[in-house]
Amino acid sequence: MTTPFSGRLRCGSSTDMRTLDITQDSVESSLRLPSTDFGLPAEAAEARRTIAKLRQRAAQVREIHTFRTGMGLAAPQIGIHRRAAIIYLAEQDDVITLLNPRIQEQSTAVETRFEGCLSFFDVRGQVARPVHLLIAHQRLDGTQVTSAFEGSVARLVAHEIDHLNGVLYTQRMAAGDRPIPVEHYRRTAYEVTTADASGSRGTTPGSVGSSR
Ligand SMILES: [Zn+2]
Repeated sequence: MTTPFSGRLRCGSSTDMRTLDITQDSVESSLRLPSTDFGLPAEAAEARRTIAKLRQRAAQVREIHTFRTGMGLAAPQIGIHRRAAIIYLAEQDDVITLLNPRIQEQSTAVETRFEGCLSFFDVRGQVARPVHLLIAHQRLDGTQVTSAFEGSVARLVAHEIDHLNGVLYTQRMAAGDRPIPVEHYRRTAYEVTTADASGSRGTTPGSVGSSR
């Protein structure tokens, strides 16, 4: 999680995400619909194909944008309304794959941080998320597993599971709060854009490029 950042910061825009065929939000967007489970292991081949497509698309997105805290991509964001999502931690290549994930337990303790979403990437908004999550999900062979996540990873996981339920982070923001333009966000509290769901490693103004 604390891999020192090196190299050029890449900054993608909403236009870039649309070009990569990441579904963009709109009032009647299919992103507002819940996705269905894979029947596993019967649909293992379909699930495997979906994961491969997610990884391929995520690789394209990561080419054009630097995610310092991590990034996630959910199947509905690439037009597949099935319960699959992947998560990358910062600039690492290890991927967390979630099939049919559901929140089993969540901490009452929450943390409020800025998040971004590839489906409306020109703004960032503050969202309170549980600090700890216990997630029930499945392997391709149908085995049920439980995984624990915390901090910024828990935030990414919660954001992606929301996508599978047809929920966007804007629906999780405090009443009356609104997302701010990404330029404003970069200029103020959190200088560097981070992730699809992001921000747990708060950077202070002027700390662009620090390895903190
Ligand atoms: Zn998102």
